[in-house]
Amino acid sequence: SRAGAGRLTARGVVRRFGGIAAVDGVDLVAPPGRITALVGPNGAGKSTLFDCLSGAARPDEGRVLLDGCDITRLPEHARARLGLARTFQRIAVFPTLTVAENVLVGAEQVRRHGARAATDRALTLLGLAAARDAPAAELPTGTLRMVELARALAAGPRVLLLDEPSVGLDAAETARLAAVLRALAADGLPLLLVEHDTELVSELADAVYAMAAGRVVTAGPAARVLADPRVGLSWGEA
Ligand code: ADP
Ligand code: MG
Repeated sequence: SRAGAGRLTARGVVRRFGGIAAVDGVDLVAPPGRITALVGPNGAGKSTLFDCLSGAARPDEGRVLLDGCDITRLPEHARARLGLARTFQRIAVFPTLTVAENVLVGAEQVRRHGARAATDRALTLLGLAAARDAPAAELPTGTLRMVELARALAAGPRVLLLDEPSVGLDAAETARLAAVLRALAADGLPLLLVEHDTELVSELADAVYAMAAGRVVTAGPAARVLADPRVGLSWGEA
């Protein structure tokens, strides 16, 4: 399995905006070699939890652990250097840079050595080698999602957080995404993804956490969680 794959743990994480707890005491673990999915309606707190895990936001209470080490107080760049990589719900690429440059920038932010080789490997893995010199501004959404994923992978992550990775992907791209994520998990990487596509979740996830109003309503195997009426009730809002 992958050298140095991590285990990401949230313990009692709370994040408030004004008086409202967007994340309200969440316990969660993303173990090595597993695909863990986070589901729930819009506003449930999934992206805010991701921010607390990646360091984009500081939790008001609770702890975030990487391999048992408390990283709660570490800023985002320090967590990234420890191997926490993420993608965002809103696509975040540099439009004037090429595909390869976008991926390389991400790799160089985090790693001192081998950024170019890691960039080439990630581009190949995600089927982007032919598009490497295309300016990002000219690419369709599905390709940009893949560019973001390549950038996260080129950083050599020990944990990978993906916020809505299948949004904007067509069926072929979604199938490629699923195959890549499965291969990464088989290689030992822990994956945590926010995902609305329940078909993809049930196909991929080893464990599912369902959130509503900042809390984990239920967690367990995909078949059980997705069939839980407390989860089903909330789908209409997504
Ligand atoms: P999800 O990703 O599950 O759709 P979010 O984490 O984006 O949910 O949002 C959870 C709640 O926190 C929502 O009520 C949202 O409006 C609120 N929220 C998120 N970010 C902010 C912010 N920067 N300032 C104020 N409220 C926010
Ligand atoms: Mg979100």
